[in-house]
Amino acid sequence: MNLRVIDIVRGTTVDGRGFRTSIYLAGCTHACPGCHNPESWSFDAGREMSLEEIMEIVEEEDFNVTLTGGDPMCSAARVLPLARAIKSAGKTLWIYTGYHWEELMADPDMRELAALAEVVVDGPFELSKRDTDLLFRGSANQRLIDVALTLSAGQPVEWQSL
Ligand code: SF4
Repeated sequence: MNLRVIDIVRGTTVDGRGFRTSIYLAGCTHACPGCHNPESWSFDAGREMSLEEIMEIVEEEDFNVTLTGGDPMCSAARVLPLARAIKSAGKTLWIYTGYHWEELMADPDMRELAALAEVVVDGPFELSKRDTDLLFRGSANQRLIDVALTLSAGQPVEWQSL
C-alpha cells in the first residue's frame, strides 16, 4: 500500500535511541498550537511512495526506525504493513503520535500499530509545557512509553534510557 512521505532522514539522533532512520508520514488531525511542522497536517503532503521504495531506503542502513510526521496513528491501517515490514527486517521501531496511549488502546488499528513499537511517544505538543531540554520530545506532557512493559503491566510504564 502506498503512503504519502514528507521526508526520510537517515542517521538522526533526535527521534529516539541511537542513530535512526526517521520517516515523516503525511497527515495529522491534532492541530497542536505551536506545532513544529504544520505543513505535515495535510494527508496530501509529501510524495507517494510504495512500501518497497521505503523499505529499500530503510534496509540500506543499519539504523533502527522512527515513524513520525504528521501523526502515523492518524493513518494506522495504512501504516501497519510498513511497520510489520520494518520489524521483519529486524529493526526496532519508535512511533510519535498526538494521541494518548489510552486512546490508542481503544482503537484496533492503532493498538496493533502501537504494539509493534519499542517506544511510543504519546500526547499532543502543548506549547505551555514546551521544554527544549527534554529527551526525545517537545513538551513535558508527552510520555516515552515502553510498549512491552506497558502491555504486560496493563498500564503505562515510561521508557528508561538506561
Ligand atoms: S501531533 Fe505532532 S504533527 Fe500533529 S499537530 Fe501535534 S505536534 Fe504537529
